[in-house]
This record gives sequence, C-alpha cells and structure tokens, in this order.
Amino acid sequence: MKKHNFSAGPCILPQDVLEKASQSILNFNNDNLSLIEISHRSQPFINVMERAQTLVKELLEIPKGYSVLFLQGGASMQFLMVTLNLMKLNGKATYINTGAWAKKAITEAEKIGETIILADSSDKNYTYIPKEYKIPRDVDYFHCTSNNTIYGTQIKKFPECPTLLTCDMSSDIFSRKIDVKKFDLIYAGAQKNMGPAGTTLVIVKDNILGKTGRNIPTMLDYNTHINKQSMFNTPPVFPIYVSMLTLEWLKDLGGVDIIEKENQKKAKLLYDEIDRNPLFQGTAEKEDRSNMNVCFLLTENKYQEKFDEMCHQTGITGIKGHRSVGGYRASIYNAMPIESIEILIKLMKKIEKL
Ligand SMILES: *Cc1c(COP(=O)(O)O)cnc(C)c1O
Repeated sequence: MKKHNFSAGPCILPQDVLEKASQSILNFNNDNLSLIEISHRSQPFINVMERAQTLVKELLEIPKGYSVLFLQGGASMQFLMVTLNLMKLNGKATYINTGAWAKKAITEAEKIGETIILADSSDKNYTYIPKEYKIPRDVDYFHCTSNNTIYGTQIKKFPECPTLLTCDMSSDIFSRKIDVKKFDLIYAGAQKNMGPAGTTLVIVKDNILGKTGRNIPTMLDYNTHINKQSMFNTPPVFPIYVSMLTLEWLKDLGGVDIIEKENQKKAKLLYDEIDRNPLFQGTAEKEDRSNMNVCFLLTENKYQEKFDEMCHQTGITGIKGHRSVGGYRASIYNAMPIESIEILIKLMKKIEKL
C-alpha cells in the first residue's frame, strides 16, 4: 500500500531523490563503484561536496562572507558548538525558550557560561511564540529556534537583534525565504527538509569567529571545518550526497520562493479543516502556527481509536503527536505532496459524519 508519511523526522524525502540515492549505493556515476566505497578525497566526491555547498548558497541567496559547512553530531552538537565558538570567556548569551529543542540548547550554553533566558513560553506548554522581549546589546549572541517541531509553532518575524543572531532552523530550513544577511549563524540537522540523518548544515559568517579567547577543541571549532571545506575528517558522504540530490530537486521545482507558496497552501488547507471541523482543535496560537508541523487534538476521545484505525487503513503514518503534547502532529515538509494532505482531510471529514 502507498504510504502517506507525516513523520516529524527523519521524514519524507522526494521519491525521485530516494531512487537516485539507491542507485548511488550500487553504482555511482556509472563507474561501477559505490558512493560509500570511494575516497572522500576523490574528485567525484569533491564535486558532490562543492555542488551541495553551491546549491545551499544559491537556494538561500547567501551573500559573500559566509561559509557553508556539512558537519556531524546533529543539530544537538550545534547547541554546544554555537556557545563554544561565540561566547567570550566570562561573556553572556541570550536565549528564548520556545520548546524542547530550545531548552536543550539552553542547557548546553549554561554549561559554558552565563546564559540569560529573555522569554519563555513554557507557561502555556509552548503553544505560542513570545514577542515582548528586548535583546540587550552587551551580550555575545542571541539564539532562537525558527520552528518548534514538537509544539507546532514558528517564528514569523525574527526580532531586531543588536548582537549576533543565531538560529536553529532544523525543521524549516529551505521551506521559506529567509534573509540570511540578518543572521550570523544558522544551523539545521539534515533529516527534516534536506536529507538523511547524519549531517548538519551550518551557515556561519566568517568574521564573527575566533574572538572568544577560548582554546576550542579542534573538532568543535568552526574554523577547523572552514579551513578544510568540511573535510577535516571523513565527512558523512551519503547524507551529504542525498542532501545534494534534495537541493537539486528543490532547485528544479523553482527554489525556495515556489516551495514557500506550496507550503503555505498545504498548511492552510489542513488548518482550515482543523478550524472548521468540530471534532478537531489546533493546539498552537493561530498567529504562530507552523507551516511544517501541524499539531491538533481530537475534541472527543471516543473517536480516537476509530480515527487511528482509519489512518492506518489508508496508509497515513507518523501522525501521532509528540508524547509531551499528545494528540496528532502532521508534519508536512517540502516533499509532502498536497495529495497526501487531501487524503488526511478526507478522513477528518469522514469521521465527522460517523
Ligand atoms: C530535530 C531537531 C533537532 C535535533 O536534531 P538532531 O540532528 O537529532 O540533533 C534540533 N532542533 C530542532 C528544531 C529539531 O527539529
């Protein structure tokens, strides 16, 4: 049966990308060798790395002065690397706590130095994005999470930032236009809109580095990876290759502008049904609703088993909400076809009529 994969991450990738990726395991570039058994120093792989970096720069219109890195350790490693590379000795960092991932980032920063939480939406179980806060000038950086994967909220307007602006964009990078020049550092684990788990994209402004007075461990120092074009040690060749394929796919579709419109259309379709159908209720504040992760509840528990069964029968998968929120979460990343959302909506209408 055809599956409709609403998983939050790892998650859906374009079918075409999966086919090309499979082929590369058996016979890469028609050279009768596998992508995963050739040297990462060989020209064919260097070409992949360069192409992937170029596509990131093109798709996000990254201005001069930024490096694009493909690292390991996930977005979770970036929670620490951001702090080590940007917080001065005896310095200060500022954060907003908008969900579980933001909190994990804060935990790492606190291990390194003074960490100020400017705003916190845990009072309402992270169902909104705080907006009433002011970022002080005399801190080393500010950190935010653009899209809260678990709670289904998304920053629509980034704050004015008088210090370095850093952002975890793991679950909405390449889903909408961003003005990169307003940011000093952006990172994103690959496994939501870009590729398989195993690599993390980092976009960093070169001239902000090397100013902390710290002796940063080699592998945790962005400059190590910048100086070696992300090949200081063996890079995760397969995730980088598949990311390159996904970015090619996105470019062929017309780029971020086009996918952003698609994503808005897809999200609106689903939110409109949630708001119309008395059996369902959205959990996030309307103005802060994520276009990537749509969180909702059934208003009458007695239908839960039936709805789950109908989803299962229809091939709808990965739609269970995170254990800290309950209910449902439909993750509708770039590769999610609108047809799959229409099928979900059809089920929602069907259960209403029961
Ligand atoms: C998934 C996710 C992470 C964690 O990424 P890993 O690559 O597993 O470390 C961090 N932040 C956000 C916003 C996420 O959605």
